[in-house]
Amino acid sequence: MKHTAQKTVLIVEDEAKLASLLSEYLALADYATHIIADGLQVVPWLRTNPADLIVLDLMLPNRDGIELCRDIRQFSNIPIIMTTARIEEIDRLLGLALGADDYICKPYSPREVVARIKAVLRRTSPEQQAAPASPNLLILDPRSYRVSVGAQSISLSTIEFMLLNTLHHEPLRLFSRNQLMDNIYTDQRVVSDRTVDSHIKKLRKKLALLLPDYELIHAMYGAGYCYEARLKQDV
Ligand code: CA
Repeated sequence: MKHTAQKTVLIVEDEAKLASLLSEYLALADYATHIIADGLQVVPWLRTNPADLIVLDLMLPNRDGIELCRDIRQFSNIPIIMTTARIEEIDRLLGLALGADDYICKPYSPREVVARIKAVLRRTSPEQQAAPASPNLLILDPRSYRVSVGAQSISLSTIEFMLLNTLHHEPLRLFSRNQLMDNIYTDQRVVSDRTVDSHIKKLRKKLALLLPDYELIHAMYGAGYCYEARLKQDV
């Protein structure tokens, strides 16, 4: 059972035995873990699940660690520890300035990885807590219809959640009111434009509680809405 202070480590590793061994060591150190073996599943999982750190293997099926590190840094400052089977890789990785927080060479002892995880979390946590809430860290939980940033979260109605989910999934894309409604009402219920507007209005109010300094949802030319995190003074 995950309690509130417990940290979650996402293990991205395609060697199943290694992943489960590391997971066991982390469980003993009181971390919750989740294992992903396929590179393509990492970003979708992170967009909807809270995690505190990622142990990211370099060589993965479908999308490698370098590409994933770049993908993740587009929307999250979550600490990343990269693992690689070749020590000479590490110099090259450092040269790429991927934004990873640490690098570990395989074969590693799980005990050492746990120690490095603790060190990275110690290094990054106070700074993260002191930093203002950032919309880059917006996490949508489709099970509870809650949206969170760091330790703060708010609950949304089903429709508000689905509107936000649709918009947030493709930042800067303009969605017409009809497109938004099509995503929400699968039963073809007739809903007036005004209804979309009133749900968006409520959604914006709630998001302002979570991120008071940002405007996240923008009306575009009367045609519809798009998602982009903009500081209020820039709007
Ligand atoms: Ca691998």
